[in-house]
Amino acid sequence: MVIGGRGAKARRLAGQMLLPLLLLPLATLAQTPKPDRDYLLIGAPTAEQAPIRACPPEVLERLGDGILIPAPAGGWSGAPQAVDVFNVFAGEVMISHGDRQICGNMQDARTRDSRFRAGIGMVMVPKPGDMEPIRVAWEKPLKARFIPTLQLGAPSPVQQVDTMRLLVRTACIAIAIALALSALMGFLTTRDRDFLVYTLATALLVVWQAVLSGLSGYPEPWLPVGSLASWWMVSASALGIGVMGWVSWRLCGGLQTWPRSRPWVRRLAQLLMVLALVTPLLPWAGLAWVAATLDHAFTLVCVLALVAGIASLRRGDYQAVDGIAAVAPLLLMALADIAGSRELVRFRVEAVQLSVTWFLMMYAYGLNRRLGNLRQQRDEMRQLADTDALTGLPNRRAGLRQLERHMLRARKDGLPLSIGFLDIDLFKQINDRFGHEVGDAVLVSVANALLAAVRDRDDVIRMGGEEFLVLLPGTRAEVALPRLEQLREKIARQAADLHHDGLVVTVSIGLAEMLAQGDDLTALLRRADNAMYQAKRGGRDRVVTAGDDAAALSATPGDGG
Ligand code: GH3
Ligand code: MG
Ligand code: MG
Repeated sequence: MVIGGRGAKARRLAGQMLLPLLLLPLATLAQTPKPDRDYLLIGAPTAEQAPIRACPPEVLERLGDGILIPAPAGGWSGAPQAVDVFNVFAGEVMISHGDRQICGNMQDARTRDSRFRAGIGMVMVPKPGDMEPIRVAWEKPLKARFIPTLQLGAPSPVQQVDTMRLLVRTACIAIAIALALSALMGFLTTRDRDFLVYTLATALLVVWQAVLSGLSGYPEPWLPVGSLASWWMVSASALGIGVMGWVSWRLCGGLQTWPRSRPWVRRLAQLLMVLALVTPLLPWAGLAWVAATLDHAFTLVCVLALVAGIASLRRGDYQAVDGIAAVAPLLLMALADIAGSRELVRFRVEAVQLSVTWFLMMYAYGLNRRLGNLRQQRDEMRQLADTDALTGLPNRRAGLRQLERHMLRARKDGLPLSIGFLDIDLFKQINDRFGHEVGDAVLVSVANALLAAVRDRDDVIRMGGEEFLVLLPGTRAEVALPRLEQLREKIARQAADLHHDGLVVTVSIGLAEMLAQGDDLTALLRRADNAMYQAKRGGRDRVVTAGDDAAALSATPGDGG
C-alpha cells in the first residue's frame, strides 16, 4: 500500500527511531536502586605533591623588589595567613614566605594548588613568633588605572571574596554568551543584519572579558593567550571600544542628530580595527601607551555619546534613552575614578564587566525595540494597503483574500457560502446632479448600511467605484435572498438621512452561492457579477440569484431604465 511520498517514509522512519528514546526513561523508572549505589566515589588516592610553581630566575629578575607585608608586633600568631593579589594583568605575580613561594599569572589558572581563582593567592602558616615578612612582587602594570590590590587575612574569608569575584566574572560572561545566542536566533528568524552584528560584537566582548577576568585560563587555558595576555587585551580593547563606541553613538541617536558624523564614526572604527591588528607588533612601552590612550579615548566616546543622547532627547527622539542608559554605568565609573574611589580600584574588573554586561543588555533592548517599531509600522502599512480610505472597508485586494479564506473553510466544513455583488444604480447621475462630495457621502452611507445590517461573521468589501461585495458564510442562496432584499430596502431608506431633495439611492444585487464542486473564486465572482447585470437589465433596484432567469426574483420596480 502506498501511503505517501518520500516525506511520509522519512517521517515514519523518524517515528520508529524515536520510539526507543521515549521508552528509555520508563526503563530507568523500572530499575530498583542497587545497594552499592548509595554513594559514588570517583578519583583515586594520589602520591602527587601539591605543584608549587616557583618563579624561574628570568622572571625573578623582571619582578623587582615588590613589597613586604610585615609580621605583626610580637611575630605571626601561628595561624594560617592568606594573601590574594588582584588587578595584575601583565606577567607574573610572586608571593613568598619562608621556603614557600608561588609564581602565577592571570592566564595559567593561577597556580594549580591555589584555592584562589579570581586573583593569584597563597596560604602560608608562619611559625608562632616568626618575624619574617611576606614578600609580594609583580611585573610593571599595563594599565595605570588597574592598581594591584592585595588582600590579607584568614584563608576562609579571603577565599570567599575571591570566589564571589569569580562568580561575578563568570556570570557576566555567561550573560553575554546567552545574549549572543539569542541574537543569533533573532538573526536566523528575521534575517535582520543588526542581530548578526550584535552577535559578533558580543562574541568579541566575551573574548575580551575572558582575558580581562583571567577566565581564559580556567579551568584549563582555552584561549591561546599564553604570555601574550597584554597584547591580546589591548587588541581586544581596541576592537571592543570600536564596537561599543559605534553602538552607543547609534543608540544615543548621534547619527540622526548629526548625520555628518557618520563618516567620522566609520573612520574611527576603522582606525581602531587597524590598531587592533598592529597591536601584536608593538613593543611593551608602546603597548602601555596605547592601552592608556584607549582608556581615555573610551571615556571621551562615552561622554560624546551622552551629549548626543541629550541632544536627541531635546529633539524629541525618546529612544535615545536606551543609549544614555547603556553608557551610564561607564560614565559613573569615570566619575568614581575622578573622585578617587577606593572601592572602584578594588573591584575594577567586576565593575568593568558589569558595566559591559549592562551595555550589552541595553543594546539588545534597543535592537528589539527597533524591531518592534518596524513590525508595528509594517502592520500599519499593511492595514493601510488593505483598507479603502473613503469607507474604511477592506478593499478589493484584501476582499479577495477574505473570499478565498471563506471558500476554503466552506469547502473543508461542507458548509454553504453565498456572496452578493452590489452596484449602486445610476451613480454617475448622482455625481453629476449633486456633486462628487454627495456621491462620496452616498458611498459612505451605503457602506455603513451594509456593515450595520450584516452578522459578525459576514464581510463587506468595497470592490471599487460604486461596487460592493457581501460575503455570507454558512448561508444558502434561499436564506441569503431575503437578507439581501432587506439590505436593498434599507439602503433606499437610508438615503433620506443625507437630506438632499430628490436624491434616490437604489442598488442592484447579484447573488451567487458557491457550488458544491468545482467552483473557483473567479467563477463564483463572475456568476454574481452576471446576476448583478441581469438585475440592471431587469430594471435595477432588485436582487437576482445567479442561475436564475433574467426575470427578477425581486419584483420591486426600479426607478430608472
Ligand atoms: P449603473 O446603474 O449601470 O451601474 O450606472 P452607473 O452610473 O452607476 O455606472 P457607471 O459605471 O457608468 O458609473 C459609475 C460612476 O461612479 C463613475 C465614477 O465617476 C463614479 N465613482 C467611482 N468611484 C467614485 C468615488 O469614489 N466617489 C464618487 N463620488 N464617485 C465615484
Ligand atoms: Mg459599476
Ligand atoms: Mg452603478
